[in-house]
Amino acid sequence: MASIFSRIVAGEIPCYKVAETDTCLAFLDINPMAKGHLLCIPKKEIDYIFDLDDAQFTDLQLFSKRVAKALKQAVQCIRVGVAVQGLDVPHAHIHLIPLNSPDDLDFKRADRPKFTPEEFQQLAAEIARHF
Ligand code: 5GP
Repeated sequence: MASIFSRIVAGEIPCYKVAETDTCLAFLDINPMAKGHLLCIPKKEIDYIFDLDDAQFTDLQLFSKRVAKALKQAVQCIRVGVAVQGLDVPHAHIHLIPLNSPDDLDFKRADRPKFTPEEFQQLAAEIARHF
């Protein structure tokens, strides 16, 4: 069965899209740890990030770097943090998380910020503008 992220790539499930190339997609995380938390994925479904071949891995990293620069311009933060977990969704992805405090990279934090669909949409458009 296709991963939820493959279904997003196929357009079967909506997302707040931030950036796209022929091979990669970036969209806002639906349960963000901080404002602007987003995910960069290869469009081709491969579960474990270290199973990507060298070209796919490099492509995803360079895409993430470009997205991180756009994110930093769009969202006030000290730095953009990077995390790879993949314990929930079996489709390789890189978390990019604007950091203003070490807690912003705590996957266990309970007080996650909430956004309306309109706020998510505006945020995605603002990041996309800088890509
Ligand atoms: P991980 O697999 O790295 O542990 O976490 C998966 C991440 O994907 C989580 O941060 C979760 O909020 C996010 N996520 C799961 N399902 C969806 C979805 O349908 N849409 C979006 N935008 N994010 C999702």
